[in-house]
Amino acid sequence: IYSIKQLLSKGKKALHEEVTVKGWVRSFRSNRFISLNDGSGINNLQIVIDFNNFDPTILKQITTASSIRVEGTVTESEGAGQEIEIIAKKIKIYGYANPEEVQETILQPKRHSLEKLREQAHLRFRTNTFAAIMRVRNALSFAIHQYFNQNGFFYINTPIITGSDAEGAGEMFTVTNFDLNHLPKDNQDKVDFSQDFFGKKTNLTVSGQLEGETAAMGLGKIYTFGPTFRAENSNTTRHLAEFWMIEPEMAFYDLEKNIDLAEDFLKYCIQYAVDHCKDDLDFLNKRFEEEQKQKPKEEKSEQNLHEKLEFVLNNKFIRLSYTEAVEILKKSKANQKGKFKYPIDEWGVDLQSEHERYLVEKHFKSPVVLFDYPAKIKAFYMRLNEDQKTVRAMDVLFPGIGEIIGGSQREERLEILKQKMNSLGMDEKELNWYLDTRKYGTVPHSGFGLGLERLILFVTGMSNIRDVIPFPRTPNNADF
Ligand code: ATP
Ligand code: MG
Ligand code: MG
Ligand code: MG
Repeated sequence: IYSIKQLLSKGKKALHEEVTVKGWVRSFRSNRFISLNDGSGINNLQIVIDFNNFDPTILKQITTASSIRVEGTVTESEGAGQEIEIIAKKIKIYGYANPEEVQETILQPKRHSLEKLREQAHLRFRTNTFAAIMRVRNALSFAIHQYFNQNGFFYINTPIITGSDAEGAGEMFTVTNFDLNHLPKDNQDKVDFSQDFFGKKTNLTVSGQLEGETAAMGLGKIYTFGPTFRAENSNTTRHLAEFWMIEPEMAFYDLEKNIDLAEDFLKYCIQYAVDHCKDDLDFLNKRFEEEQKQKPKEEKSEQNLHEKLEFVLNNKFIRLSYTEAVEILKKSKANQKGKFKYPIDEWGVDLQSEHERYLVEKHFKSPVVLFDYPAKIKAFYMRLNEDQKTVRAMDVLFPGIGEIIGGSQREERLEILKQKMNSLGMDEKELNWYLDTRKYGTVPHSGFGLGLERLILFVTGMSNIRDVIPFPRTPNNADF
């Protein structure tokens, strides 16, 4: 038994073989040609039927979306774009699908909008576009593990329920297990729902970094790869409430080595997808090109999807400091003409995605790594520079995406870290475990976070993050 992908890639070498294939019917034309897909790849296998050899009641049940098993002989195909097809000898129907009902769904073989796919999210694994994206997602996830594994990193798992708010950004979901039924009615409004992990305040993780640092301070190089939760109450095409983050953390790495790693790592993963997802990326490229045709001229991408990927693979990322970036933005035509929603007038402001995208898509037309941000706008744990004003932070910005990676060299000096925490009113006691890493043999160290879905957006050329995760969690979308 072959998967359809295996059989098609065997091509003419499989001629005359007796094979069994299973899958879902994509279409059944003229009572003669079945297009069969089993999810293994983008291409359908053609099954040819001589209806004289089959019971008409069986043939009636071969409808779009129904599931079948076919036994038959591999023969040369005369149809364009396919080398082989199967002459069916025996067909078994697993599950019939009523054509009238299928008509209403995205299983109907035609181009559906991505919105419609999202509305029937449970069925979209059967569509070409979404299945291709899921296979690319799988390849990228595998490449990530492979890269770190080959480079001496250990995969560890940081907690999902945690007391720490790594970023201090207040985007946390509180964990609670309160059962109101066990409380007297008149007491219910006095309950503090936030105190309930066996009496302690906890939340779902927004980042495994702080915990990851403690592991790197013993294992040297580690990475986490897990679900991450943020109460992002804004509906953007780049944010999910639940996403997957990859966070390497390395002892003895300064910011430059951290940026080198981020660039090498991203290129490895993209190259892996290019090498292993050829059919799917060809399909997604066609889709991308068609989508570009519908766009107004100023939003059209000059490169197709393949060219976009090749460009990133073959060019060094531009690196520039926050200070240099602000100078460019200040002088930019967009700023002068008042085209930014948030005009750039002084050093120290946080960059918005419109600024990041201007740098990447208009000014440099290249991935950009920004570093040395103002300390004021960054998290407490970042390494203070000698100028006392900036910290060793870095963001990797990608065309069409904006921020894909955020990282930093961490503050390894105990006294300076404590001062920073005090100035922000943070409780030292709560982070005693974190401070210990600086007490007992502290070392310079660095790390970053990559959002898996942002990487998939880039590689697949999609533009809405809901279309690259199997089960998107956003405001208004907690089940299917
Ligand atoms: P952004 O500026 O886009 O909100 P961030 O600076 O808040 O991102 P970080 O805390 O630096 O994000 O997290 C590291 C990476 O995780 C980001 O670079 C991005 O790739 C990804 N990421 C962050 N928030 C989300 C989210 N809500 N949904 C999907 N991916 C995210
Ligand atoms: Mg954010
Ligand atoms: Mg950011
Ligand atoms: Mg960031």
